Amino acid sequence: VYYINMHQLKTGPVLECVASAKLPTPHGAFQAHVYRRADDPIEQMALVAGEVTHSSEPVLVRVHSECFTGDVLNSLRCDCRAQLDLSLRAIGEAGAGVLIYLRGQEGRGIGLVQKLRAYSLQEQGYDTVEANRCLGLPIDAREYGIAAQILEHLGIRRIRLMTNNPVKTAELTAHGLEIVERVPLCAPATAENRAYLRTKMQKLGHLISL
Ligand SMILES: [Zn+2]
Repeated sequence: VYYINMHQLKTGPVLECVASAKLPTPHGAFQAHVYRRADDPIEQMALVAGEVTHSSEPVLVRVHSECFTGDVLNSLRCDCRAQLDLSLRAIGEAGAGVLIYLRGQEGRGIGLVQKLRAYSLQEQGYDTVEANRCLGLPIDAREYGIAAQILEHLGIRRIRLMTNNPVKTAELTAHGLEIVERVPLCAPATAENRAYLRTKMQKLGHLISL
């Protein structure tokens, strides 16, 4: 599949779907699409289940920011892997939905090196927000424009967004998506991530109950 979305030529950098294939998972069968945007060397992936294109019903969507330490290595410092599993399971159970896996967003966008430096500072008593400040880094450098563009490419505008993050909701709305419902992702806190989750709740406004 090699497809240029002509609409994007008018509104922003060209987004292309450069490959598609089936991806069976424990949560069901997905169609995986890889996207590239003209201004970005990082390839992005969307996992699509069921019929979602131009659906009359709002589509269940997760926009998941890459977390190598959590998603792949199952680190207990954060709740990323739990949120990834919960959202894929929810889409699988619903039989329709989209997970956009945003690569290049490690550590809320600061990268792997700085993320580990921030972890090291957290071992000295800083919280996740203070650690980023101490390193002179943004608290949250993530950008969701490409996710909005992928959804537009899939013909999706009305969504039920699985997130605890009000900033993500606001940004996707600003990019033209209609968020019909916010679906919370309730991963149980662990001894290792309780303080981190509390900071996300108190300082970043995440809608988590501990
Ligand atoms: Zn994480």
